[in-house]
Amino acid sequence: MRKNLIAGNWKMNANHLEAIQMVQKLSYRLDLSDYERVDIVVCPPFTALRSVQTVIEADHLAIRLGAQNVEWHDKGAFTGEIAPSMLAKLGVAFVVVGHSERRQLFGETDDIVNKKTRAIIEAGMTPIVCVGETESERDDGHAEDVVESQLAGSLAGISSDVLRSIVVAYEPIWAIGTGRTASADDAGSMCTFVRRQIGSLSPDAAEDVRVLYGGSVNPGNIAGLMAKRDIDGGLVGGASLDPDTFASVIRYWI
Ligand code: PEP
Repeated sequence: MRKNLIAGNWKMNANHLEAIQMVQKLSYRLDLSDYERVDIVVCPPFTALRSVQTVIEADHLAIRLGAQNVEWHDKGAFTGEIAPSMLAKLGVAFVVVGHSERRQLFGETDDIVNKKTRAIIEAGMTPIVCVGETESERDDGHAEDVVESQLAGSLAGISSDVLRSIVVAYEPIWAIGTGRTASADDAGSMCTFVRRQIGSLSPDAAEDVRVLYGGSVNPGNIAGLMAKRDIDGGLVGGASLDPDTFASVIRYWI
């Protein structure tokens, strides 16, 4: 049985004081049954990780801490970068890797995503590996080819026993931050495709890997998405910035 997972990607929003308020407000709106049903993750900017970790620990919250990016080297002359071991020491459990904004704006290739994914695993954290096609790739009928090659490149050389514990987020680029969501049917069939591709890399891992959908998820569309067999949760950007809205996404079945 795969446990659902809903992760809030706060992107470059919230200073550490705002982040403290956001995680506290979110926790007030959740109860034990929410944590039992769903792994709840927040991914604040780097500068807020320590503050949010402190709140989570002090208040004994079951909210898990995530980071939005990481460098794959473990130490050295990489000015401005953050190493996996630094995140692990902060109690970070999940790291988003290969987000389309990083791929498009910061030149992150599948090879880099692969190196980061391996480094995250090596440091004892769980990668949330993002894949997804552009609008023109979808219009040209290449969405599956794109996702297939991103998965093959990003997950190359990762052993089956490790592969089963990672998280993959299917995020069509045209749906991110645009208010346009893939229909539940399209999102569901692409997540089925993702699981099948994982199966071709490792038959044993396919049923265990958690596959998320991301792209303008909100309280109004989450239930339809979650009804799909191969969607195990969501990677949520804009709708995770307001604790009320994010709590409504998390409590989609109510
Ligand atoms: C994201 O940041 O991964 C994302 C899906 O953003 P949004 O929910 O705002 O589309």
